[in-house]
Amino acid sequence: MAKLADLDWLTYESRVGEGDAVILLPIGAIEQHGPHMSMNPDVLIPEAISVGVARLLANALVAHPIAYGYKSQVKSGGGNFFPGTTCINGKTLIDTIKDVVVAYARHGNRKFVLVNGHYENSMFIVEGIDLALEHLRHEGIEAQVVVLSYWDFVTQDTIETVFPDGFTGWDVEHGGVLETSLMLHLHPELVNMDKVMDHAPATFPPYDVFPSDPSWVPASGTLSSARNATAEFGELLMAVCVEGIAAAVREHFSAPR
Ligand code: ZN
Ligand code: MN
Repeated sequence: MAKLADLDWLTYESRVGEGDAVILLPIGAIEQHGPHMSMNPDVLIPEAISVGVARLLANALVAHPIAYGYKSQVKSGGGNFFPGTTCINGKTLIDTIKDVVVAYARHGNRKFVLVNGHYENSMFIVEGIDLALEHLRHEGIEAQVVVLSYWDFVTQDTIETVFPDGFTGWDVEHGGVLETSLMLHLHPELVNMDKVMDHAPATFPPYDVFPSDPSWVPASGTLSSARNATAEFGELLMAVCVEGIAAAVREHFSAPR
């Protein structure tokens, strides 16, 4: 069983043992992903990838995900003004990550992998890790944390297969072929391809404005079209991410400290 919170506490205690377990913590967001898809891909995708990675490692557990993420931004998530997009501020996210890592470390865990599924979270996760490690040092605990965003493990070969007409970049992939393919593979009941709004990838000026200007965002809420998404692409994307992340984690935690 890979999901930590599904265990009873005594089984968990025995799995944690001498600090040998790898704790994978998915971190996502609840935000709109267009009319064709549910609002939870940023949580469900890193959680599924974490479960896949845990199965390839000797002793790994997937912690319950942090579902809420930092405020959706216009140029990467469509913006924080759509009904349903439900975000927390940076300070709350930093504190949540810090508190959760500290708690798992106090149980005896020393190896962590934070698996991000929402671009906007990135530096707040780093800050949460930094504050957690500093806090733990005062308790005499030395922990190690690997942090990653799953799309960085999609190989060039896979990009060429999934985007045969050319790849416009991860920044405009919000609700596009990457996430929709993964969701078609993992949770087809949460996707309706008949509702995909087909449009050219969004383009933005090289600056932001605040308050955000909703007219910058395609009416669909997606930043590129999911028309070419398939469950087969999703299976391929899942496999490269799981294998790549498992290899990186194995290499890092077996390396001499
Ligand atoms: Zn997303
Ligand atoms: Mn997102």
